[in-house]
Amino acid sequence: MDLEKLQTALEELRQPAYRFKQIKLAVYRDLKDGFGSIDNIPLTLRNELDHRMPFNELVLRTERRSVDGSVKAVFGTLDDAAIESVLIPYGDGTRTVCVSTEAGCQLNCSFCATGHLGFKRVLTQLEIVEQVLYFARDLKSKGERVTNVVFMGEGEPFLNYDNVKNAILLLNDKDGFNLGQRRISVSTSGGLSALRPRTGRSTWLSRYMLPSTVCVPS
Ligand code: SF4
Repeated sequence: MDLEKLQTALEELRQPAYRFKQIKLAVYRDLKDGFGSIDNIPLTLRNELDHRMPFNELVLRTERRSVDGSVKAVFGTLDDAAIESVLIPYGDGTRTVCVSTEAGCQLNCSFCATGHLGFKRVLTQLEIVEQVLYFARDLKSKGERVTNVVFMGEGEPFLNYDNVKNAILLLNDKDGFNLGQRRISVSTSGGLSALRPRTGRSTWLSRYMLPSTVCVPS
């Protein structure tokens, strides 16, 4: 859910200030799947918000579940781009979601099928976070939770730096999804170096480090 749109809608509807946090917690901590299921706000407000703004920016198109418990989902964006995400369960109880950061990819690594498919656009903060929320809701129904997120799907995360950083901050937000920074890993093909000219040599890496673990190929 777009929290800026939510704030604006609540102000226009002259709602008390506490409503914002109430709804944010319902979405990102309690993992509600629609305005209709946020049952601690008035029904009239649920209906009004439903009318004013989308709850989700992604729509599930297909899903494949494997016998080992892994799940591959294809989502459609509001402008009809397709993106893939995967849930990978491990025997130790770890539940890792692998997210995409672009529809397609700006790079074209020789070994990668995504690269050969071309590039449509970068994904927004919400489109990245909603991939995680989808699996989190699914796991919650089984009494489980997402324990790790890896930025290792379609796209080079450092070529979509601002949206990736904001997605990590939202996943890490203590008043929301509250996933620890050490549980979030960003894998780069080397796109990190593309940012180098934007700042001085000595500061470029520290400036662009993300609040997460960054895996850079040697
Ligand atoms: S950066 Fe990643 S998604 Fe893009 S072409 Fe290379 S391996 Fe594939």
